Amino acid sequence: MQDVILVRYAEIHLKGLNRPFFERTLANNIKFALSRMNVTVTREQGRMYVWGVQSGQIEEAARRLRNVFGIHSICIARAVDKKWADIEASAVELMGEYMENERGNASFKVFSRRSDKGFPMTSEEINRELGHALLERFNPRLCVDVRSPQIKIWVEIRERAFVFLREIPCRGGMPTGTAGRCALLLSGGIDSPVAGYMLAKRGAELCAVHFYSYPYTSERAKDKVIELTRILSAYTGTIRLHLVPFTKIQTTIYEKCPPKETTVLMRRLMMRIAQRVAEEDGALALITGEALGQVASQTLESLAVTDDAVTMPVFRPLIGMDKEEITTIAKDIGTFETSILPYEDCCTVFVPQHPVTKPRVCRLRQSEAMIDFEAMIGEALCASEVLSVHI
Ligand code: ATP
Ligand code: MG
Repeated sequence: MQDVILVRYAEIHLKGLNRPFFERTLANNIKFALSRMNVTVTREQGRMYVWGVQSGQIEEAARRLRNVFGIHSICIARAVDKKWADIEASAVELMGEYMENERGNASFKVFSRRSDKGFPMTSEEINRELGHALLERFNPRLCVDVRSPQIKIWVEIRERAFVFLREIPCRGGMPTGTAGRCALLLSGGIDSPVAGYMLAKRGAELCAVHFYSYPYTSERAKDKVIELTRILSAYTGTIRLHLVPFTKIQTTIYEKCPPKETTVLMRRLMMRIAQRVAEEDGALALITGEALGQVASQTLESLAVTDDAVTMPVFRPLIGMDKEEITTIAKDIGTFETSILPYEDCCTVFVPQHPVTKPRVCRLRQSEAMIDFEAMIGEALCASEVLSVHI
C-alpha cells in the first residue's frame, strides 16, 4: 500500500496535437512546486500521479499543488494491488481515520469506476460489497445515503486500485509557461497583483516592472512591491522584477506640463518604459490592474490615450470588475494584507486636483512632444535594477 496524489487537470483535455507539450509543462511545474520532496510524476490515461511524498508531508504537498495552474483537482489516495482484500482494507482504514476525527454519525456512498475490465467485479458489485463491509465495520455510526452523502468514498480500478475519500478543488487554468511571457506593471496597490495572477492563471509567465520616485516614495514602498512579487511567484515560479527610477520624469511632467494632464502623461511614460523593458525581457504584452471608471486615468478616453503610447497589446484583466470582486481575489491569493500596507506609490504622490477625465489623443501627443522624454527614458532604463524573486 502506498499513498499517492492523483492529479486531474483542467482545460488541457481540449488540446489537440500539442497536448503533450501542455502535459510535460504541467508535470515539470508539479515537480518544481514539490522540489524538495523528491517526488516522481507519472502520466496515465489523462491524469497524473505524484508518487513518493512522505506521509508526514502529504498535506503540505496538497497545499502546494492547489496553487499549480492547470490542475483541476487532486485526491490523496491509497494505491493498492487489485485484490479485493487490499481494497477493502484500505477503504476501512481511510473511513476509520475519517470517523476518528468526527463526532457522531455520518452518511456515505461508495462510487467506483472500473477501467480495467479484467477485474472480476463490476462497478455495481464493488459499490455493494464495499458498502456492506463499511456498514458492518462502523455499525451503528454509518448509514448509506445515495442522494446526498456526507462522505463519498471512491474506488478506481486502473493499472492499480486507488481508494480515496476526498477530492480537493484546485485553481484550474493553464500550466504556467504555456502562453508566453507578459510584463506586469506592478504598483503596491490591490489591483495589479491580481491582474498578474489572472494572466498567469492562463499560462503566461510574468516579469514585473515597478516605478519608484525616491525620495517621494520610500524604501519600504519598494520592499512592499518585492514582497508582492514574492507572493505571486508561489503561483508563477521565479519572476524577474525590474525596478525603474521615475523621479526625474515625474518631476519634469509636474513642473512643465498642464496640471490636469499630468496623470495621463505619467501613465503614457510608464507604458513607454514598460514596453522597452518587456521587449528586453522577451515579453509580448503588458498587463495593468486598471478597471473601467475606477479613477480619472481609467475612463475609456484615458485608457485609449494610454494605449496610444505603445504598440504592444495591453491586457487589463480587471477591466469589468468592481473593487470588491478584486479584493476578494486579492484575499484569496494572499496579496491583500501586503497591498494595504500604507506606503505611498509614485502615482499617488503627484495627483492633480482636477485631472482631465476625457483626454484627447492628439492633445496629449502634443504635450508629450514638447519635452525630450526619450533621453530621460534611456537614463531611467540604464539606472534600473533587476531582481530575481521567488518564494
Ligand atoms: P493598483 O491597486 O494596482 O495600484 P490603482 O487602482 O491604484 O491600481 P493606478 O494607481 O491608477 O490604479 O494604477 C493603474 C495601474 O497602473 C496599476 O494597476 C498598475 O498596473 C500600474 N501602476 C501604477 N503605479 C505603478 C507603479 N508605481 N509601478 C508600476 N506600475 C504601476
Ligand atoms: Mg496604484
